[in-house]
Amino acid sequence: MSENLYALFASRFPADRSEPCFVPPEGPAISYGELEAGTGRIAALLRAKGVKPGDRIAVQAPKSPQMVMLYLATLQVGAAFLPLNTAYTAAEIEYFLNDAEPVLFVRDAAEIADEAQALESLAEITPRAASDLAAILYTSGTTGRSKGAMLSHGNLAANALALHEAWGFTHEDVLLHALPIFHVHGLFVALHCSLLSGGPMLWLDKFDEAKVIAALPRATVMMGVPTFYVRLLADPAFTREAAGGMRLFISGSAPLLESTFAEFEARTGQRILERYGMSEAAIITTNPLHGARVPGSVGFPLPGVSLRVGGGAEVGVLEIKGPSVFSGYWRMPEKTAEEFTADGYFITGDVGRVDADGRVWISGRAKDLIISGGFNVYPKEVELILDELAGVVESAVIGAPHPDFGEAVVAIVVGRSDEASIISGARERLAAFKAPKKVVFVTELPRNTMGKVQKNRLRETYAGLFAPVPS
Ligand code: AMP
Repeated sequence: MSENLYALFASRFPADRSEPCFVPPEGPAISYGELEAGTGRIAALLRAKGVKPGDRIAVQAPKSPQMVMLYLATLQVGAAFLPLNTAYTAAEIEYFLNDAEPVLFVRDAAEIADEAQALESLAEITPRAASDLAAILYTSGTTGRSKGAMLSHGNLAANALALHEAWGFTHEDVLLHALPIFHVHGLFVALHCSLLSGGPMLWLDKFDEAKVIAALPRATVMMGVPTFYVRLLADPAFTREAAGGMRLFISGSAPLLESTFAEFEARTGQRILERYGMSEAAIITTNPLHGARVPGSVGFPLPGVSLRVGGGAEVGVLEIKGPSVFSGYWRMPEKTAEEFTADGYFITGDVGRVDADGRVWISGRAKDLIISGGFNVYPKEVELILDELAGVVESAVIGAPHPDFGEAVVAIVVGRSDEASIISGARERLAAFKAPKKVVFVTELPRNTMGKVQKNRLRETYAGLFAPVPS
């Protein structure tokens, strides 16, 4: 039997194809019938252009329903989809194109849809095995070369089905989709849940709090990065009534601050469901739909996922195995071999622990670990303490080169306070080697589009804080 992911979606489209799939804030909706026909026409065009199974199709284009059609058409003809962040520069794009050697690079999905307009819609879905390549996602690559995570039809289908079940999606759900679709979160997690239910998506080109608030009364589920929730809370129009019809708010891609969770609950009466995932495996753990959602924890491994702490320590690098875990990095067999254990677990690079109930807690990336005077300092532990101090809105803790300690702990803080009270507040609660040696105040932390604090940028900016940077 064919394991083509598109065949799975098509089998779940509503029997009445006139039902809406994409519902934009203005203008007409696009039905499932139109999605299917548009996908079929683009698939025919790809065929006509000579695209063969296994070929790569790279896309750096604005978010649009046509881009989704191009994605599905790529699956339909058995090729692999390679979405690229719209923020990438020409030099970065050149690297990806040289590395992945796509047969096609699309900058404008609407143009492709127009070009396909005159063609007959292709009905055939190219048979694929579960292990065949469906997509390549380049990791953000904050250190070294960006790596292309190879995800198969089977990886994506397994994760989509598990999430659909875990989050209780039904045909009655209306998903508010405001995420970018060049990343695992918007392209796979959000889109796939909706396609499997055959329900509509309120389709926003990008996150805009006013548009989100206006759309909420018609939605039932929203997926977002933590920044979305912070921005909603900053808007007085985001009220308990505005969120009243929603059954589920989901957060991921970056840690959700406990203060955001608490403020959100106080404002709306709803507890945000936090989950954890990555390009290499889609979603790995989630808080429960029914049962306690614990702030600060990313919940339990999804069914079928085996998760352990490497090295047998209580806190350490998380290792995972399961049906959604990728098979390796594109054309990097050595790198792939380094990041899997001998017994087949993927070494995530995220540091964390599993508590007695089986809940997973993430304390940061292994590469963010600070070694100060020979002692390990986990930034998250320090950030949690700092965030509790009076006047601190949020913080990011990094290591900066130091002549005595090797690295010294530096706190970058958003809020109204002063260095002395922050250092003394930290010292009351933490071993001296974990307390910041210096505090820098900023108006906001640098974040990428997925809401992740860019610690590499902070490390660069503050590299010369204690010692001159060698030239
Ligand atoms: P990406 O491959 O761009 O999706 O980034 C994956 C990384 O984001 C993971 O390895 C984690 O470091 C981080 N991440 C994702 N979700 C969470 C979460 N809920 N809490 C903490 N970190 C997260």
